Amino acid sequence: MRIFHENGMMIFPSPVMRELRESSRALVVKSCYCPRGHNLVTDKAVFCEHSGILMRVRKGLSEGLVAISPVYGDKSRITLGMHLEKGGILTLLCPECGVPLPMYDECSCGGDILALFTRPVPDFGNCIGICNRVGCHNAEIRSGDELLNYAMLEHLEQ
Ligand SMILES: [Zn+2]
Ligand SMILES: [Zn+2]
Repeated sequence: MRIFHENGMMIFPSPVMRELRESSRALVVKSCYCPRGHNLVTDKAVFCEHSGILMRVRKGLSEGLVAISPVYGDKSRITLGMHLEKGGILTLLCPECGVPLPMYDECSCGGDILALFTRPVPDFGNCIGICNRVGCHNAEIRSGDELLNYAMLEHLEQ
């Protein structure tokens, strides 16, 4: 597997996993962008010393902020300003310019997979896809020809 430096991501040895097995690694998103090129990775929300991915979130008339862990496979999440009901479908927006994150694919749960671009230019060939349904942790990372999903990472961690 390649190391994703050029796309703002890198694979680093996970200290927790290292305890379990020396060769284990985790994927950390170091930067990702809205369609207008704003970086959503911020040290305003930190997960285990890694800067989180901050998004504005809207459902009906309520709006808030959500930060998700940049560690791929880590389901940690911080919500501010609104209560996220499990199963609800959200609109995710750039906290900087308010542009909605574009749909990338349909999720198997019936929600939409929204794209966070791993480069400052919108390119669906280099993006992180996350489901907009609360509680659905479907996420995938596309980098050129490679598509990573949880199953692959779980395999890596074995
Ligand atoms: Zn933006
Ligand atoms: Zn889903």
